[in-house]
Order: sequence, then structure tokens, then C-alpha cells
Amino acid sequence: MQFLANLRVRTAEAYGAAGQRPAGWLLSAHRIDARTRELALAERAAGIPLMADNGSKEHIDDVLRGYSERAAEIAREAAAARAPGEVRESGAPPSLRSAAAALAREVVEACEARVAGTDWSELLEAQISLRPTSLVAQEDFCVACLIGLDLERPLIGWSIRDVERRARRSLQLWERVAGDPRCRGVDVYAVLSGFDFNTARAAGRLAAARGVTHVAVGMAAINLDRETARTYRVGRRVLRLAASAPRRYVRLAQVASGIVAGYRDVGRSLQGFHALGLGAGAMFPVLAAAVGPDVALTCDSTSPLHDAVRDHVLYDRQNFGGRLPLPKVAQAVLSDGSWPCTCPFCSPYLAAHPPDLEQARSWWHGAGDPAIARSDLLPGRPLPAAVPLLTIAEGGAGQEALATRIASNHWALDQLGRDIPDGQMRVEWARSAFARMTRSPAATHRGIQAAAQVLWGADPPLGRPQGPG
Ligand SMILES: [Zn+2]
Repeated sequence: MQFLANLRVRTAEAYGAAGQRPAGWLLSAHRIDARTRELALAERAAGIPLMADNGSKEHIDDVLRGYSERAAEIAREAAAARAPGEVRESGAPPSLRSAAAALAREVVEACEARVAGTDWSELLEAQISLRPTSLVAQEDFCVACLIGLDLERPLIGWSIRDVERRARRSLQLWERVAGDPRCRGVDVYAVLSGFDFNTARAAGRLAAARGVTHVAVGMAAINLDRETARTYRVGRRVLRLAASAPRRYVRLAQVASGIVAGYRDVGRSLQGFHALGLGAGAMFPVLAAAVGPDVALTCDSTSPLHDAVRDHVLYDRQNFGGRLPLPKVAQAVLSDGSWPCTCPFCSPYLAAHPPDLEQARSWWHGAGDPAIARSDLLPGRPLPAAVPLLTIAEGGAGQEALATRIASNHWALDQLGRDIPDGQMRVEWARSAFARMTRSPAATHRGIQAAAQVLWGADPPLGRPQGPG
């Protein structure tokens, strides 16, 4: 599997400064300016693959912002109307369901207006200006927005046919782009969405029948989901999970495997599958397991950048890109004396700015071996003076350290992607990865367990669903 690094100036510069290159880049249309285009073209000239994304992320974020308050109100009422332990939104009172359905219609109209208001040819021209190896065609992002707003199918009353309508629209947009002579020699990805296995499978069937060979799925809304799943649905059966789990893992497993199942139904083969903005390293094995062996698999994520910049987190290469907050890293450095990452970014930085462990420990012991806080890592404090790679600061003394950690996080996911084999070994690798993820936080662990059950397990059915089938 190939991890594509999001081409941001600071990420590209951090790679460049260390003389390194990722497996591939992704640059979205709404991030193209003179500088990013110049960087993209230089990477293409060096033979690095580049995917040009369609810029929908910006629209999706806007729609989510615009409707989040009203959607949250409906979600609150739906939760209040549920009996304790009851999970089906179809049990919500009719007045609430019709309010949810009306809001969903508004969201669809807002999305359609945005798609109609985008000059597709201009968008394509911008994407093509990057000389990409692949590009994501303009898409219908209604389902992504509904998922992001927690307007789930049973609540809004959407049938599979409603989701198929959105898929057909997305496929029309794909067809227009894929048929354009400017796309000759470029893999053009159609964006498909699904709420669950059944709807993803339906979308997969339609795409397969149209001759789509490369499919992208937007993960942004799925990642945002903080809800817990207790059941999942396959066909007309509702199955209970062995334990409740973060719904984003269940949905990733269902949507990715559903699309592949749709292709199998039609008897066509899917060549490429891209997960747009896959949140965390722990989700890579789930994606690999869900998509299965015979598809070229890629994903991208802005998390390595945001986690380094906003959350001061270093990814743990040894643990599926698990998050190591810098204070925790500092604690480990003080205890073990070694930096937890030996990547091609951290290593040269440490060689150029060797940590003074004696000085760091003498401060720490002098202060009574305190637990390290974020404030201990601000510029001017004794610890970052002794171990500069721990510095938490934008700009100034901390700039190079931050760039190193940004690149280090990308590298961790890049390597994780390279670990995931193509072909028949992929699913076996995923099974063994699931088993090795025992050090993960509890929520991740439950997510992995649930994904394993969705993909491979079969529990007794709970009976016919009450909502649309
Ligand atoms: Zn590193």
C-alpha cells in the first residue's frame, strides 16, 4: 500500500531539507498556488507519483459548519427519544424523523449548488497543471456531509435507492472528467460513498457497471464520527458487535468491503482504491483487510501534519503510528536516554543537535523528577535547551525541530504503508497486524476487534431491521 503525503509547503520543505522523498504526494485543488505547484512539478520531475485531489474537502467542511448546529439539535433529540440501550434511530418519533429528512434535503441542495457552482473544466485544468499521475474527479459529496452531520439513514429515511441516486450523480461527474482528452494517461478516480455495507455495495455495483476502475472514498466525515456502534447491518440482517466500538472503524470496514463486494457482484475488477484522508495509522490495517488482495491501495492523511503542529505528537513507527505526546517522549528520553525514533529526519537532527542528557537529567532530578508537562518544553526552559528536538514552538528556535517532527510523522505512515503488502499476502498481514495491535489504546483496540468481526466474523442475527433495508 502506498501512503501519499499531503503536499504542504512545510512538509515538502522538511522532506527536501533531509534529502528525502515520500512514496507519493497528494495535492488538492484548493491548496494549489504558485509555490505548491512549483513544488509539485519538481517532485513530478523527480518521478514521484502525485494525486491531484478535487478540492471537495473545503466544500464539505463549509457545509458541515453551516448545518452542524441544527444537525446537533436533531441528534440530541434523537438520543433523548431512544430507550436506554436502544440504538436504532428508526425508533425516533415521526416528527423528529421528518425534521431530519427535511434537513437532509437542505444539505443535499447545498451540496448540489456547490457542485453546480464549480467550473469543472477549470477545476480539471488546475489539477492537470500539476502533471499528476492520478486525479480525483469532481464528486457528489452529499453522503459525506450527511455522515459528518450524523444524519444517518434510518433517521432521515433514506433507502438504498436514495444513496444510488447520489452515486449515479458522482459517476456522471466522473464520466465527464475521465472522458476529457486532458486526462489521457492519468488514472481518474471516481468518488463513491456509503453509509454502510449495503449502500457502499450498491454504489460499487453501479461504478463497476459503468467501467470505473479506480475508486476513491472520502474518509473525512467517517473520521469525525465520535459515536459508538453496537450493531452493524449486512443485507437485511442486523448483527450485534461482541462489544461496542468506535463507529468509524465499523464504517470504514463496511464501506470499503462493500464497494469491493459491489465489484465482485458485477464480475468486474477494481484496480485502484484510494482512501481520502484516512485518519490514523491504526486504520491502515482495517482498510487493507477490507479492500483485500487484488487492488492497488493508496491513502493520504493530513493527520501527521496537524498532530505534529497542533497536538505536539510524534508518531510511533513501532506501533502503527500510535501517538506519542511530546511530554511522554521527554519522559522516555529522561528515563531511557534515547529518542524513540530513528527515522531519516530525527537521526540527522539529533546528530546536528546532540541531546545533553546529563544537563537534562540534572535539571529533572534537581526539580524532584516531576512528570513532564507541555509547559516544560517551551523555548527558554531547561529541557528543550538540553534536548532541542523536544522544543514546542512555531518559528524561531523550535522551527527546525517542528519540521523534523512533521516529516517524522509522515515517514512513520509512509513506512507503515510500505509494510502492507500487495496481493494475496495483504489480508494475512492485516490479520496478524490486528493481533499485534494489543498496545493500542482501548478505543482503538475495540475498533479493531469490531472491524475483524465485521470483515470475518459472523454472529447470530438480531432480526430484521426496522428502518429502510
Ligand atoms: Zn523520526
